[in-house]
Amino acid sequence: MSRSAHPLPLERRRFLKLGFTITGIFLGGSLLSLVPEAAAQNRNILEKIGPVVGSYPYKPHYSMAIRLNRCIDCELCLDACASNNHVPTYGYRLAILHRPKQIGHLQATEFLPVLCNQCNNPPCVKVCPTKATIKDKTTGIILTDDKLCIGCKTCMTACPYNARYFNNEKHAVDKCDFCYQSRLSGGTVLPACVEACPADVFLFGDLADKESALYRLLHTQENKIWALRPETGSLPNVFYVEN
Ligand code: SF4
Ligand code: SF4
Repeated sequence: MSRSAHPLPLERRRFLKLGFTITGIFLGGSLLSLVPEAAAQNRNILEKIGPVVGSYPYKPHYSMAIRLNRCIDCELCLDACASNNHVPTYGYRLAILHRPKQIGHLQATEFLPVLCNQCNNPPCVKVCPTKATIKDKTTGIILTDDKLCIGCKTCMTACPYNARYFNNEKHAVDKCDFCYQSRLSGGTVLPACVEACPADVFLFGDLADKESALYRLLHTQENKIWALRPETGSLPNVFYVEN
C-alpha cells in the first residue's frame, strides 16, 4: 500500500504541516525558508550552511543533494524507506512537501522531499539528556540508540525541521539516518530512497571525495544551492539544487 493511502495520524500530520508552512513562506513567512544564492556565491553559502569548503571532517562525509525539478511525487521513495526501515504507518523518515510554482502562465506544483539534514551543528544532539542521539564520529550521520532513548521527546522539539517522530513500538524517537543502520553499515552503498527513485532526484555521496559526483555538483559555480532554514545555524548536510 502506498504511504499516501494511509490515514494521517498526529505525528505524520505534524511533519506534513511543513508543506503548508513552506507554501506560506513563499508568500512571505519565515518558519521554513529555502535561501537561494547567486551561483558566484556558492562557496559562501556552503561555508555558511554546511561544512567549510575543502575541509569536510568526516570520512566518508555523507551528504545528499536533492534535485528539485525532477520529483514527480510518485512516493516510491517513501515506500522504500518505510519497508527498509520498518517505519510504522503513523511515522515518517521522509516526506514530500508540495508548494505552488508558476511556469509561464501555468500554475504548477513543485515537490520537495524533506528528511533529516544530518546537521553539522545538530540541536537534537545538544538537548538529548541521555546521549541516545549522537553524531557519528566517522560518518557525521546523526544516530539514535533505541536502548538509551527515554522518550522525553526533547529532541523532537529542538529539531528545526520536525524530522523526528516517536515510534511507539520501539519506545524511542526515530528519524532518517541515511539508512546507516539498515544498509550502509552492512556495506550497501545507497540509502533505500536513492535506489528506489525513478527520477534520479537524490544524489548521495561523500563530500570529502573531490572526485565524487556530489562534490562536483555542489561545487559547480553555475548551480544554485539551497538549504532549509540556514538561519538556525544547524549547518545541514542536505542541499537542494534545481536539476
Ligand atoms: Fe537533528 Fe533535526 Fe538536524 Fe536531523 S535535521 S540532525 S533530527 S536537528
Ligand atoms: Fe519524487 Fe523520486 Fe520520491 Fe518519486 S521516488 S516521490 S520522484 S523523490
